[in-house]
Amino acid sequence: MPRCLGCGQNIPPGINVCPYCGTRHCVKCGQKLPSSAESCPYCGVLIHPQPKEKQYVSNKWYLLPILLGGVALFATFYTDLSGPYIAFVPVHSTYGLIGGFVAYFLNKKKDSQKAERFLVVGALTLLVIGVAIVAHALLTAQGRISTLALVIKKLCIIVG
Ligand SMILES: [Zn+2]
Ligand SMILES: [Zn+2]
Repeated sequence: MPRCLGCGQNIPPGINVCPYCGTRHCVKCGQKLPSSAESCPYCGVLIHPQPKEKQYVSNKWYLLPILLGGVALFATFYTDLSGPYIAFVPVHSTYGLIGGFVAYFLNKKKDSQKAERFLVVGALTLLVIGVAIVAHALLTAQGRISTLALVIKKLCIIVG
């Protein structure tokens, strides 16, 4: 078993970074490497940069786009769609997405994969709100309710 040139402990073959003291060894010649070296000073082999360890990002960040998405949904629903306030609907509906962006930018350096998922959740709130607005508009529109009822009745007949 090879020995670490930093601390002298036995390290498993094929492991180039000592699990005890963190000393790096050259993959080719096995020499001890300076921590900042980009190539081995003994044999010249290029050293791959150490993969950055992911830092833990709390799942609580999911709540930011979800809660803001909820606020957006609430605000959108309580906007009178027939009045002049309809112009605020696009503004209200972006809250969840903004929450997703904030969670993404604050965490992308720690764990970019997870940060992207926050962004996706933010984007999904926009989708949910979009569907909700369409459903809301359809349900409140004059005459549409009876049409919808008819469609549901027909569906029930088909299913039944
Ligand atoms: Zn060591
Ligand atoms: Zn070397």
